[in-house]
Amino acid sequence: MTTVSMPTVAGLLALAEQKRLAGDYRGGGEIAREAADLAAATGDAAGQAEALRSLAASMLRVGEQEQAITLCREAVAHLEALGDEAGICEVLTLEAMPLSDLGMHEEALDVLARARDIAQRLGNRTLLYWVHNRTGVVHGSLGNRELSTEYLMRALDMVDGMDDEARFCILNNVGDNAVYEVARLRGLGHTKAADRLLSDALGYVAEALRLARAAEHPFRESISLDNFGMLLALDGDLDAAARLIEQSRQIAVRSGYRSVESGALQHQARVRLMRGEHAEAIEGLLLALDRARDAGERPMAMEILRELSDAYEMAGDLALALRHHRAFHDLERELHSQVAAARARMAAHYFELDNARLEAANARLETELHRTRSAEWERAATEDALTGLPNRRSADERLPKLAADGAAVSVALADVDLFKRVNDQYGHFIGDEVLRRLAAILLDHVRDTDLVARFGGEEFLIAFSGAGLQDAQARCELLRATVAAYPWEQIEPGLSVTISLGVAEVKGIDLLPYALGQADECLYDAKRAGRNRVVSRP
Ligand code: GH3
Ligand code: MG
Ligand code: MG
Repeated sequence: MTTVSMPTVAGLLALAEQKRLAGDYRGGGEIAREAADLAAATGDAAGQAEALRSLAASMLRVGEQEQAITLCREAVAHLEALGDEAGICEVLTLEAMPLSDLGMHEEALDVLARARDIAQRLGNRTLLYWVHNRTGVVHGSLGNRELSTEYLMRALDMVDGMDDEARFCILNNVGDNAVYEVARLRGLGHTKAADRLLSDALGYVAEALRLARAAEHPFRESISLDNFGMLLALDGDLDAAARLIEQSRQIAVRSGYRSVESGALQHQARVRLMRGEHAEAIEGLLLALDRARDAGERPMAMEILRELSDAYEMAGDLALALRHHRAFHDLERELHSQVAAARARMAAHYFELDNARLEAANARLETELHRTRSAEWERAATEDALTGLPNRRSADERLPKLAADGAAVSVALADVDLFKRVNDQYGHFIGDEVLRRLAAILLDHVRDTDLVARFGGEEFLIAFSGAGLQDAQARCELLRATVAAYPWEQIEPGLSVTISLGVAEVKGIDLLPYALGQADECLYDAKRAGRNRVVSRP
């Protein structure tokens, strides 16, 4: 016999994250999607949000930026409903990446500003660390290298005590930023500052590469190799640079990291340009351009076109330099309209998401209302509104169960004496209060296993479980005396209340109706004998 264990959301999520963290973004994404579907089907909002986030994190690595953004927004909607602020902060920090990749830098900075607010409000250092780190990267993509450096350094200052993933990311990001910053500083003639930054950055990236290799994480290894290579090239070691970037490219090809691959091709070309190998550089750049276009990485394609234009110029081919310069501008314009289109698509999606959120909230309210109502109906069907005792219908259902286990059971019917007079003299309102007090007295003086119910107008049923006739008779006598001795004049001066009881033993479950009939006859006898008494029949 084989047993098939059903997958759980938590189990699938753990597997998805395991694959994602090992750099298997496609495999991780597929399993995260399964987890999201399962969580949606079982109404597990927290699981769904976590699965959507995991899926988004994988999608963005395989070049599905727009989808990653959409998934992040869905995750945020769930987390908002759950009131999970830390979760929202994490997802917003993630969402900034694909936004920035698509050229939507303002939106990226907006979501990061919101994430920063949350992290600060929660006083959560780890969250704040990631927000600073990501903010630095976005400013870098915007070409704002000084701000980028500032944020990355803030994050670097906070890295003590963080896990290896966090350490890797900041070291690598600082290294990546330095590639641009060194060139900028040299361009400004700040040679000393550039050299100092370069030597620091080489140390950071060497450490990042060590961490990536220790974690056997191919994505991290390939991006840090690429950064290391570029920094070595700036340091003048072109051979080592070419070697490391080629290693980066090979890992990217093997693992399907398309944007890393086109980045590596671009950087290889840059190293060749530094060597004066114009033709080879141009060949590499053209290939990189293809890859970047395949991966939908327009900002990267633009950068490559500009480098191509420079390379053709260096090679003395001014016509082709001009042509690629124009292509660069065309793409820039195209990118602008693409970003506008993506914004429009995402706005439409946001609108749908809002609608879905409203509908879900409505459905929740309706279910809640339905539940409350059916609970009320259930109570109204079994409970007497005036006294809160079980009503006759409920007593009819419960009596046979009481008599079913074979032990002795006796039933008594209690009726208020001359109750019509109470109503007439003191009013219905006082009459009602008398019935409520009576119910309370009866309940107080029976056992938990006994049953007290309102049988009709001013008539109560009491079932004594485990009691033969004599026992029941004695306990009815106690009830009668207690009622008669109750300080009724506290309710109204002059008021006094007594009850009469008829009692009979239930001799077998089938004889329950017979016993009730007997108790009723005894009650009638008690009334005729002058009221305020207990009558039983053997
Ligand atoms: P007896 O001792 O023979 O039982 O006399 P009685 O007046 O109690 O009997 P009768 O059956 O003539 O009157 C019962 C009265 O109980 C009539 C009715 O108005 C009153 N009653 C029944 N249900 C309620 C109720 O829920 N509240 C109030 N205030 N009175 C009720
Ligand atoms: Mg009565
Ligand atoms: Mg009556």
